[in-house]
Amino acid sequence: MIRMPLPDMITKIKEASGLSDEDIKTKIDAKCTALSGLISKEGAAHIIANELGIKLVESNGKIKDLLPGMRNIQVLGRVTQVYEIREFQRADGTPGKVGNFLLGDETGSTRIVCWGKHADILNELSPGTPVKVMSGQVRENRGYAEVHLNDYSKIQLNPEEHIPEVAERKIERKQLNELQENGQEVEVMGTVVQLFDPKYFETCPQCSTRLKDVEGQWSCGQHGTVEPDYSYLVNVFLDDGTENMRVVLFRNQAEQLLSKTKEDMLNYRLEPANFEPLKTELLGEQFKFIGRAKRNTFFDRIEFIANKVYKANPEEEIARIENNG
Ligand SMILES: [Zn+2]
Repeated sequence: MIRMPLPDMITKIKEASGLSDEDIKTKIDAKCTALSGLISKEGAAHIIANELGIKLVESNGKIKDLLPGMRNIQVLGRVTQVYEIREFQRADGTPGKVGNFLLGDETGSTRIVCWGKHADILNELSPGTPVKVMSGQVRENRGYAEVHLNDYSKIQLNPEEHIPEVAERKIERKQLNELQENGQEVEVMGTVVQLFDPKYFETCPQCSTRLKDVEGQWSCGQHGTVEPDYSYLVNVFLDDGTENMRVVLFRNQAEQLLSKTKEDMLNYRLEPANFEPLKTELLGEQFKFIGRAKRNTFFDRIEFIANKVYKANPEEEIARIENNG
């Protein structure tokens, strides 16, 4: 199923049907009750949309509207960043490769993950190259939608369509109490008031997806039973005077926040007590984060998923206040 946040679904149903928010929420609750709570509110909203003949998701080819679960999507954009091609060994011993690049359009940017034969195209890409991706599949990775290219996908450089230059998008500073879950990339700044223990999870050494415990063995949907690699995340509470909010930092961002290496992080998994002093060291430190607000549906709260971390620079902050004042 395509994972669309409930508020977005309600908005779509509202626009297409003319029903009020109240009416739609009542219908959703009624549907959940009728089905004895066997479905989620999102599931109920899907059913109601179907009953009303409303198509909830239709890829319009814009990057910001990509949703995990979409198949056969087409996107047009320009390359903004190219990463290295990574080679690995598949579970059956055969070599595989994968490479990523970032593609941007006027609505946002997304990671394009090029598996196998598609990886070589990275050698022909540089920032600004116009690209058309066809029959891609959207998957979620660390809270972001990214497009995966498989055997059926196609990628075309310099397509016939006119693709505008991607303007440097200026990232706006927001206060925590202004954050909205609209997928917009923003900057926040505040004081760390709490640092939580890192969380570790088992990942596939080949494709980095999270592994499932299948009868006591770590298993990847694509690569079968594997020896797990570890990924991790760290949460902090950030306070900016308007609000405090949980900021979620995945691997690289966690390392940056704590000034630690992957090796250090993996050691904390084995020796959690060594992590304790960091909790006091980081208290009261100011950081700047770039990322997006996202609803954690499990805890029903808004969190900030960071994709860049900087130590706040006091002079820059003072200049900012003076310019605004
Ligand atoms: Zn895998």
